[in-house]
Amino acid sequence: MSHTPEALLRLAIERIDRADAEALLLHALGRDRAWLFAHGRDAVGQAAADAFLAQVERRLAGEPVAYLTGRRGFWTLDLAVTPATLIPRPETELLVELALARVDAAPGRRIADLGTGSGAIALALASERPQARVIATDASAAALAVARDNAAAHALGHVEFRHGPWWAPLAGERFDLVASNPPYIAAADPHLAQGDLRFEPATALAAGADGLDDIRQIVQGAPAHLQPGGWLLLEHGWDQGEAVAALLAACGLEAVQTVQDLEARDRVTLGRWPG
Ligand code: GLN
Repeated sequence: MSHTPEALLRLAIERIDRADAEALLLHALGRDRAWLFAHGRDAVGQAAADAFLAQVERRLAGEPVAYLTGRRGFWTLDLAVTPATLIPRPETELLVELALARVDAAPGRRIADLGTGSGAIALALASERPQARVIATDASAAALAVARDNAAAHALGHVEFRHGPWWAPLAGERFDLVASNPPYIAAADPHLAQGDLRFEPATALAAGADGLDDIRQIVQGAPAHLQPGGWLLLEHGWDQGEAVAALLAACGLEAVQTVQDLEARDRVTLGRWPG
C-alpha cells in the first residue's frame, strides 16, 4: 500500500493528539512543517510509513513525544533529550528570564546550573551571556553526556560540565548566579504514575516525603557558593513557594521573592546573598 503524508496524518489523529501526530510524522520523514504543506500528497516510502505508525503506537502507550523524536525546543534552542534527562518544560523559561534580569553581560560573570539534565537552563543562559563562565552539573553521567552534546551542537564552548550531586563538584567556588530546576515532587504524589512523568527519570522528579529534600540541600549550600550580592533561583511546585521562601530566608538570603508562572502558579523562588 502506498501512503501520503496527509493520509498518514489522518490515520494517526484518529488515535493520538494532532500536534503529536504531526511532530512524529515530520520526525519520521525528516522534514519540517513548510515541507508538509507543499508535499502532503507525495508518496511516502514504506519504511518511513512503518516507522511513523510504530511511533504512533508507542505514543498511544504513553511515551512522551520528546523521547520519541529525541528533541525538545527550549528558549531559542532545539535540544536533544533522552530518557536519561527530564524533558524541558516551557514554565522553566521563567527561571531563565528571571536569571537574565539578575546577571548582566559583563565578561567573566560566573553562573552555575545545578542538575542540568539536558542542559536547558545552562545553555539558554550561556546563549544570552556569551562572555560569562557557565558551569553545569549533574549527578547523572548519562544526562551530562546529552547536555555536552547539546552545548557542542549550539557551539556554546563557554559552558563547562561537571559530574556530581548539587554542590559537590563546586567545592570552594562562588558564583554571581546559581539556578536550578531540581526534583521537587513528593515521593507519594500520584502524578508520578501518570502521563509523561512515568517515562522520565525518577531521580529528576521526586525528592522525599515533602518534595523538598533536594531544595533543602541546595539552599543550605548557597551561602558558601554565592558571591556577595549573588543570586540563587529555584524552580519548585505550585504549593511550595512559602516553604522555599522560608528556607532561603533562614539561610540568610535577602530580597527573597516567589514569582508566578503564566498560569499564575508559584513557580520560582529567588534570593540574594548579602553584600
Ligand atoms: N515541572 C515538572 C512537573 O511537575 C517537575 C520537574 C521537577 O521535578 N523539577 O511535571
